[in-house]
Parts: sequence; structure tokens; C-alpha cells
Amino acid sequence: MTLTLADVTLTYPDGDGRLTALDRVSLDVPEGSLTAVVGPSGSGKSSLLAVAATLVTPDEGRVVVAGQETAGLGRAEKAALRRERIGIVFQQPNLLPSLTAVEQLQVMTHLSGGTTRGARGRALELLDAVGLADKADRRPHQLSGGQRQRINIARALMNDPAVLLVDEPTSALDHERGAAVLDLLIALTRERSTATVLVTHDRTHLERADRTVVMRDGRLTEAVLS
Ligand code: ADP
Ligand code: MG
Repeated sequence: MTLTLADVTLTYPDGDGRLTALDRVSLDVPEGSLTAVVGPSGSGKSSLLAVAATLVTPDEGRVVVAGQETAGLGRAEKAALRRERIGIVFQQPNLLPSLTAVEQLQVMTHLSGGTTRGARGRALELLDAVGLADKADRRPHQLSGGQRQRINIARALMNDPAVLLVDEPTSALDHERGAAVLDLLIALTRERSTATVLVTHDRTHLERADRTVVMRDGRLTEAVLS
């Protein structure tokens, strides 16, 4: 298993008490497979990704990323694990306005201590993989929403992650473009053997996932697709 959450509970401070965002959640995601997570707003989907990304430490339970138990890791070790093993795609692409498409990707390597020049070949290869080989020199304002989201996905793959965490990537896209982004995520999951978790609100996507789970009030259950 490339990503394992075992009996994870996460609470947030809430007035005088605590709000339980994740309630004994367990999830195994094998490499090369995509698990879709659906559920109402506020049910804990983004919290699940934040815990899997080691951005938030759970109150209880275990998070294992690419064989690495995360419980004992310090702040710097977690940051290194995120950089080297985890790709994160947030809802909003958050691209840097002044950089071209290829530079958006190169900057990731720069941040993890590699040479930007050495990263250019890989960045171009990934832009090709997401269908944007001919847009390498465009800046964000010269690209469509769907194209920006593809760059966001390619950027998350720059450091060849074992785990890919994606939060509602299609919410700003129309149905057709959303479906194309999902196809892309499934293809990348297979080609690059990532353990992918996709939070989505679009139920029409679900039959193409390897597995679908439902979050409700912080609890995770297997989806019954009808
Ligand atoms: P979803 O992504 O399914 O909409 P979230 O994981 O964002 O759900 O939120 C789950 C619950 O935790 C919600 O009740 C939300 O208000 C609460 N919550 C999320 N983040 C925080 C936070 N940083 N501090 C306090 N409460 C939070
Ligand atoms: Mg959310």
C-alpha cells in the first residue's frame, strides 16, 4: 500500500469543545490506483487530504506514506517527505502570474534544491503528458481554466510523487473539461504508479475510479453506486 490511513481521528477547536472532522477513518490506496472521495460540504474531505499530506497531524491513528510511518517525524522531515513523495493539487491552481507554464513546473525543483535548468526537460515532458506541450511559454492569463488546472496537476508530479492528493480539481470547469481532467488523472495514476486520492463532487466521474468512498460527518464508508 502506498498510502495508508489507519483509525485516524482529527478534531479542531470549536468554542469550548472540539469538532470531530475525521472519526476513526481508515483507507488504503494501492499504487497505480485512484480512490474517489465524495460527500457533502463540511463532511471532512479536505481534512482527509490534509492529514494524508502530513499538513495536519491527527489526534489519533496512523498515516503511512510510501512505507514511511509519519507519526514520529519532525517538521523538517515531514516537509522533506511532502517534497519528495507527495503531490498535492488544490482546487485553485494558484499559479504565479509572471511565470510561463514551463517555469511554474521548474520552480518546484528549485524549491527542493535541484537546478532549475536540469528541471526543464522534465517540466516539458510533463507538460506534454498533460497535453500542453505547445503552451510551455504561455503565462497563466493566456491559458483557459482547464489548461491552468492541467498545469497544476503537472506541477504536482514534478518530483515524481508516490502519493497524489487532488481536491476538487474540476469544480471550476464545465462538465466536458472536468471529464477530460479526470481521464488525465486516471492515465497519470496508471503511468506513474501513484496512489491517487481524488475528492470530487461530480458523481458522473465515479464509475471510472478504482474505488469510491463516501465521507459523512467525518466517517468514511464504501460507496454503493447505483
Ligand atoms: P469538506 O472538504 O468535506 O467540505 P472540511 O474537511 O473542509 O470538509 O471540513 C470538515 C469540518 O471541519 C467542517 O465542519 C469544517 O468547518 C471544519 N474545519 C475545517 N478546517 C478547519 C479548521 N482549520 N479549523 C476549524 N474547523 C475546521
Ligand atoms: Mg473541501
